[in-house]
Amino acid sequence: MSVAPANHVINARWIVPIVPKGIVLEHHSIVIEAGHIIKILPTGDLDKKYRSYQTTNLPDHLVTAGFINAHVHSAMTLFRGYADDLPLSEWLNNYIWPAEAKFVNREFVRDGTSLAVAEMIAGGTTCAADTYFFPEAIAEVCEENHFRAQVGIPVIQFSNAWADSEEEHLTKGLEFFENIKTSSLISAAFSPHAPYTVSDDGFRQVLKHAINLDIPIHLHLHETKQEVETASTQNNRRPYTRIQELGLLNAHLQTVHMTEINDEEVQSLSKHQIHVAHCPESNMKLASGICPINTLIENGVNVALGTDGAASNNNLDILAEARAAAFLSKVITNSPTAITAEDALSMATINGARLLGLDNKIGSLEIGKRADIIAFDFSGINFQPIYNPISQLIYTANGQHVTHTWINGTCVYRNKLYTQIDLTDLKERVENWRKKIGGHL
Ligand SMILES: [Zn+2]
Repeated sequence: MSVAPANHVINARWIVPIVPKGIVLEHHSIVIEAGHIIKILPTGDLDKKYRSYQTTNLPDHLVTAGFINAHVHSAMTLFRGYADDLPLSEWLNNYIWPAEAKFVNREFVRDGTSLAVAEMIAGGTTCAADTYFFPEAIAEVCEENHFRAQVGIPVIQFSNAWADSEEEHLTKGLEFFENIKTSSLISAAFSPHAPYTVSDDGFRQVLKHAINLDIPIHLHLHETKQEVETASTQNNRRPYTRIQELGLLNAHLQTVHMTEINDEEVQSLSKHQIHVAHCPESNMKLASGICPINTLIENGVNVALGTDGAASNNNLDILAEARAAAFLSKVITNSPTAITAEDALSMATINGARLLGLDNKIGSLEIGKRADIIAFDFSGINFQPIYNPISQLIYTANGQHVTHTWINGTCVYRNKLYTQIDLTDLKERVENWRKKIGGHL
């Protein structure tokens, strides 16, 4: 398997650096040294010394920053298409949780994560906030495939194949953190599943350790109206209020979904600089509700995009989420100006980096940042004519138009071929799981 050398020049027809927003550079080049972007300049101005660098010419391509999937359960790709067209509670209680209890183990997580990472790389995603059982197996697979990830340490009251109690999740999570803390590709977060599956004491412990280790908290919150109503009846307060009382509201909190938000909560999210991972396709498929992202963004809340697990989507294409986020926002606000193509592209890139606290490293093509870069081939007939490349990217392209993906300066996908992944072996492993899991349908 060949890996591109660290010193590299990419010559592209269009470069969209993300920052500053809305800018398109024509016939420019990116110079990469030791995994970092060191120059972006007109191709005609390239110094002779770069002629010895490996060069990738992309004459019909748009090059931009790698997409960031702000919420995914990678291993659940093995449940893709396993149960569809059901409400969230029935889908979880009658299908997903029983299937997880039966099949999830370390090998399941390794193989499912491998499948997801391959799909994400081919669709232009270079970093994901991944949360599932066996976080050490997720981190291993990401490292092996040279994929960047924030790996969540799951905390949940239910006994499962990884841990039996909230306490055991935390103990194992702390061991996991010790093993990955020096990685250049993997970072960690605590990921208490949701207010309805984690105790007050569980949240207090998570908060204590998150502060000690200075790592974020990634939490499903207000995914459905039912979640909010049930908690309000049982506990006399909304889940958000409970999380607030437990002291979790701060800039390290990454909330996921937030389809039910009142005015007070919008102001609170803004005041505490809390991030929101919006998963429009999963929310639509499960009829969970619609996160009012336009209101959030108008109030200064950082909104990023996630796919959620493939079982509720059913793909891991961030570009599809960007388009869905823009369209959905236009429909619910009755305004075609809500969420522009440029807004959607920021949500897919730099906003994801902000959510992860990695915006000094990734999320845009800027000097000094890590070379997490993707290229789209715009030569196809469906892209013509090209007046506005950003419009074409958000409203015309999909993940299958990606031709190249670089992560940390390494080309992991070149001319639509993986440089690190043995696809035949991966497909065989997935087929074995299909036989096992499918036999129990
Ligand atoms: Zn989720």
